[in-house]
Amino acid sequence: MYSKNTQCVHSKQQFDGVNTPVYTSTAYRYIGSNEILYPRNYNTVNQKVIVDKLCTLEQGEEGFIFSSGTAAITTALLTFLKSGDHIILSKEIYGGTVKLVEEEFPKFNIAFDFISNHDMVDLEAKIQDNTKVVYTETPSNPLLSIVDLQAVAAVAKKHQLVSIVDNTFASPIIQNPIALGFDVVIHSGTKYLGGHHDLCFGALITSKELREKIYPSAVNYGGSLNPLDCYLIERSLKTLAIRVEKQSANAMKVAVALQGNPLIAKVYYPGLTDHPNHQVAAKQMKGGFGGMLSFELKEPEQTVSFLNRLSLIIPALSLGGVETTICQPSTSSHAGLSPKEREEQGITDSLLRLSVGIEDINDIIGDLNQALTV
Ligand SMILES: *Cc1c(COP(=O)(O)O)cnc(C)c1O
Repeated sequence: MYSKNTQCVHSKQQFDGVNTPVYTSTAYRYIGSNEILYPRNYNTVNQKVIVDKLCTLEQGEEGFIFSSGTAAITTALLTFLKSGDHIILSKEIYGGTVKLVEEEFPKFNIAFDFISNHDMVDLEAKIQDNTKVVYTETPSNPLLSIVDLQAVAAVAKKHQLVSIVDNTFASPIIQNPIALGFDVVIHSGTKYLGGHHDLCFGALITSKELREKIYPSAVNYGGSLNPLDCYLIERSLKTLAIRVEKQSANAMKVAVALQGNPLIAKVYYPGLTDHPNHQVAAKQMKGGFGGMLSFELKEPEQTVSFLNRLSLIIPALSLGGVETTICQPSTSSHAGLSPKEREEQGITDSLLRLSVGIEDINDIIGDLNQALTV
């Protein structure tokens, strides 16, 4: 098997050109063909070529590409859950996923429990006769806590639950949950897979067997992606490994620099040896600990002026791009949660989430330092 850098660059599919031609057609001749090609059937050439590459990178067998990460999540959850069922999710997951569950699932009579991210005892205690799915995310957003994927997968297998993990923060370069026993891996491709803050898409990677179950729901819910975006994704994926390696290496250096800065109260990064789950992170993440980290200023009232003093780092939502971006979760990604929910999760108003880019490390740290010392 080739290494990740090589897998990113080369496709399984063979064409005369090095790149896949863009097939914009939505209609295809069907006589004599054993498959109806159609974008919403998830089987056009430009869709398949990126799914193949993501399957290789995630060590899965089959998958889908969707028009958003949320479409991937919705399709996966509504494949395996019906009225009367129950799902267990970890607490620290993407705010949009929390909203999907809390706002939409009651309409379908689907019950849910959110549990602490690393409490396996709690996970077993929460399993009921009608529990069908366990859903988690690691590293978590925005506090970078780590879920032991092998442990969760083992509990899910024991109770015959479908295990689903949102692998967006780690990317397939750093973490491969299927190899650790997970059934379904989801990505918001809008983040690292796209990597340039100019594409919105989602991916789902799984086994052949589960793909057959997901396929009818994927067609029915209709979250498929257009060929022009597929072409840009094919281009983005070629540099995925090299980008993530650089982002991870930069993030580690930023984490160490911030930790040593007297104006910083706390740094959350799984690569730091004093991170509470560093050992688990080191066991399941390879070649780095990802490009995401969070930190708190010692003086909370300085948070907004600190953001305003940054000159290179861009205060922006979203993450995973080549540019270093920063956001204050309490007023942005997690503004939808109530102050009480945020407090329960440990998301203070002074918490800042940094998505480290591929710029020169001295320029990133230099910008943080000048904004911190004023
Ligand atoms: C952004 C994000 C999502 C949602 O993806 P969209 O592409 O915006 O629909 C899901 N999970 C995580 C971890 C994310 O960061």
